[in-house]
Amino acid sequence: MTKKFNPVTPELLAELKNVLGEKYVKTDDDHLVAYQTDEEGNSYYFHKPEVVVFPGSTEEVAAVVKLANAHLVPLTPRSAGSGVACGAIPVYRGIVIELERMNKILTFDAENMYATCQTGVMTGDLQAEARKHNLLYAGDPSSAESCQIGGNVANNAGGNKAVKYGTTRHQIYSLKVVTPTGDIVDVGARLQKCSTGLCLEQLIAGSEGILGIITEVTVKLRPLPPYSFNMVCVFKSDEEAFALPNKILKAGIDPTSIEFMDNEALVMTCKFLDMPMPHVDDGCDYVIVTVETFDEGDSDRKMEKLCDLAEANGAIDVLEADARIWKLRKQFAEAARNIDMMFQTEDFVVPLDKIADITKQIPELREKYDLYCVTVAHIGDGNIHVLPLNVKKLSPEAWFEKIKTFHRDLFPRVYALGGKMSGEHGIGYKKKEEFSLCTPAGEVNMIKAIKKALDPNGIMNPGKLVDVD
Ligand SMILES: Cc1cc2nc3c(=O)[nH]c(=O)nc-3n(C[C@H](O)[C@H](O)[C@H](O)COP(=O)(O)OP(=O)(O)OC[C@H]3O[C@@H](n4cnc5c(N)ncnc54)[C@H](O)[C@@H]3O)c2cc1C
Repeated sequence: MTKKFNPVTPELLAELKNVLGEKYVKTDDDHLVAYQTDEEGNSYYFHKPEVVVFPGSTEEVAAVVKLANAHLVPLTPRSAGSGVACGAIPVYRGIVIELERMNKILTFDAENMYATCQTGVMTGDLQAEARKHNLLYAGDPSSAESCQIGGNVANNAGGNKAVKYGTTRHQIYSLKVVTPTGDIVDVGARLQKCSTGLCLEQLIAGSEGILGIITEVTVKLRPLPPYSFNMVCVFKSDEEAFALPNKILKAGIDPTSIEFMDNEALVMTCKFLDMPMPHVDDGCDYVIVTVETFDEGDSDRKMEKLCDLAEANGAIDVLEADARIWKLRKQFAEAARNIDMMFQTEDFVVPLDKIADITKQIPELREKYDLYCVTVAHIGDGNIHVLPLNVKKLSPEAWFEKIKTFHRDLFPRVYALGGKMSGEHGIGYKKKEEFSLCTPAGEVNMIKAIKKALDPNGIMNPGKLVDVD
C-alpha cells in the first residue's frame, strides 16, 4: 500500500523550530541514521526519518502533531527505542518524535501508593524510586534499564513479574494522551473500580503509538514484599519442565516469576558471560522460580513446597539461586546479539496447558527451515521466546525471507492451540502482515475503524499493526 504523505519541507522545519527551539529539531545525518531503527538489527527494515524532534512538554507534543496534520507528514512516536517489533521505525519517513526529554516523576505519593510520570521516565528509575519508599512498581521488562514507561504502556510490556502482577496495562490508573489530531486528553482515573464510559486508557495501552502519543502515566505502586527467594529447578526433559508452572500455580505458591531457559540458551549465555553454572554441561534446562512474601514463615513453607513439587515432577536438582541467575536470564539477548546482530525474537503466547504442545513442534520447524534456535520463556504466563539465530550469516534479505516463511508455518500452529503471535513485544511493522493473516477479519476491521475515526489523516505511526487506506 502506498501512502500519500508529503515530504518535510523547509517551511515545516521552520514551524517546528518555532515551536520547539532550533536545538530540538535535528536533520543532520548522524541523527537520522540513529533513528532509522529501534532494537532491530536487520537493515532490511531500516528507514531514515527526515527530521527528529525532541519536545519537552505535552503542549509541544500537541503542537508537533497539529503541524504534522496540517502538512500531511507522518509522525512516529519513540521512547527509548528498545522495541523489537520495528514499532518505532519511521517506515514512511517524515518526523520521529523522541520523548526522552520528558523524563520527570511529577508526583510520587508513597502514602497513597501511586506515581505520575512523564512518558520518558526510565522504567528502572521508577522501580528504584519505589524501592526507596519500600514500595514496588511491578512492571518489570528485562529491558527495564533501557526502556521508558511510555514505551512500556504503548507496547503493554510484560516481563518477569507478569505471573503475579500482570503486564504494564495492569499497573496503570490513567494516561495523558495527545490524540492523532493534536488534542490533549486525560483518560482513566485513580480509582479502584469504574463503570463510567469506555475504558480508553486500556484501549491506548498496547496500541503501539497508532492511536496517539502518551505523555503522562499514573501508575499503581504496591507494598514491597520484604522476603524473597529464587529457586532453580533443573530438568533433563522439556516436557517435565513445561508441566511445572500450572502445578506451582495450583499449589497456591503464588510465584512472582516462573522463567524457562533451554540448554542451548544456557550454554550460549554462560559462555557469553564466562559464568559456569551447575548442570549446564549435562544438557539440562532451568525453570527459575521467584517467590516474594510478607512473612518469613510463609517464605520457608513455600520454598519447601516448591522443592517437593519440582522433585515430584521430575526435577533432577533444585537449587537456591543467588543474583547470578537473573544476570543469566536477562543477558540472553545480548548473548544472541553477540553471535549476529540479526536474530529473531519470537514472542508467541499460548494457554499454559498448551506450552508443551507448541514447543514440541519447534524441532520439526527448525529442521524444515534449517534454523538454529535457542528458547527462553516467561513460562508462568505461557509466553515463549524462541530465538532463531543467524549462525549461517545470511544476508539481510535472505534472513528476512527465511523468517517470513518460518512465521507463515509457525503462527497458524500457535493460533490452532488458542494462542497469539505476541505476548508482550507487539506487532509493529515486523509482524503486520502475519497479524492480518492470522486475525479474524471482524477484529481487524474493528481496529481499522477505530484507527480511521481517531486519525483521519493517517499520520500517527503509519505502517504499524494494520494498514488503513
Ligand atoms: C534486552 C531486551 C529485553 C527485553 N525484555 C522485554 C521483556 O521482558 N518484556 C517486554 O515486554 N519487552 C521486552 N523488551 C522489548 C522492549 O524493551 C519493550 O517493548 C519496551 O516496552 C519498549 O519500550 P521503549 O521505551 O524502548 O519504546 P520504543 O521502542 O521507543 O517504542 C515502542 C513502541 O511504542 C511506541 N511508543 C513509544 N513511546 C510512545 C508514547 N509515549 N506514546 C505512544 N506510543 C509510543 C513506538 O512508536 C513503538 O511502536 C526487551 C528488549 C530488549 C532489547
